[in-house]
Amino acid sequence: MFKSTDLIEFIKYFSTETDCLKYIAGIKWPDKSFKCKKCGNQNFCKGKQNYSRRCTKCKYDESPTSGTKFERIGFDLLRAFHIVYALSVRKKGISSYEIETEFSISQKTCWKFRNKVQESMKSSGLHILSGSIDVDEFLVGGPEEGKRGRSHGKKKLVVIALERIGAKNYGRSYMQYIQQSTTVEFRPFFNKHISKESNIRTDNWKSYAALKDEYPNLEQIDSDDGKNFRELHIQIMNFKGWLRGIHHHCSKKHMQGYLDEYCYRFNRRNYLPTIFHKTIERLVQDNKNSATEGS
Ligand SMILES: [Zn+2]
Repeated sequence: MFKSTDLIEFIKYFSTETDCLKYIAGIKWPDKSFKCKKCGNQNFCKGKQNYSRRCTKCKYDESPTSGTKFERIGFDLLRAFHIVYALSVRKKGISSYEIETEFSISQKTCWKFRNKVQESMKSSGLHILSGSIDVDEFLVGGPEEGKRGRSHGKKKLVVIALERIGAKNYGRSYMQYIQQSTTVEFRPFFNKHISKESNIRTDNWKSYAALKDEYPNLEQIDSDDGKNFRELHIQIMNFKGWLRGIHHHCSKKHMQGYLDEYCYRFNRRNYLPTIFHKTIERLVQDNKNSATEGS
């Protein structure tokens, strides 16, 4: 497993296409495991290409990238690994525009690959928030006023949850793009990301009150223009700053992807040496992930 945030180490570890193929094969077929996707046979011999495996029964030759998010990306794996490294290790990731210029890949091709990586950053729902949690909503693409109104025009409404640890520290965070600030839209977000026993704080908005049936420790307090939810509002400002600064614009269709990408890096900020490996793992195994629900 590559376990570092040092770019020089990374360049030494992955210097050729073969290095990347070997790495993908190691994740796809740990130990000697193999199951032919055509006939189910478990015996294989060496395939034609580097690190590919050939079924001894039906002779199907399977490459390490087959069935993974690296299949048919339209450019070489070394570039792909560098892009994944930048997207996972760099604090702000990398924009499509930067990928295009830094790696000489056409706009359409890099946009497609970037989206694949972003999809793999979706929450699996395995790590739910617990302890002290603050929840609120915010609008992207406009001023905060009227976030509970009926229409937001081109603005996008987002519900956010953040774990508070002590006075000034925070744990994990999740965000969900919603249409309206209603109990019906809040509930699935709470159910997916927040433990029932946790001590939740929200402002006095009525749609949160109805959630007390499932979340008995939900407390509603006066927001005082956000002063009582300081950490949460810093998190919101940081997200907005990142979106505006790096990506300039984001359509409603892709909003959730950017929210997921931001939370993915944020929630792993204390585990940076393994974030690249974990992301590659998801891209290799993602067909299973995305078929179920996604982390
Ligand atoms: Zn076979």
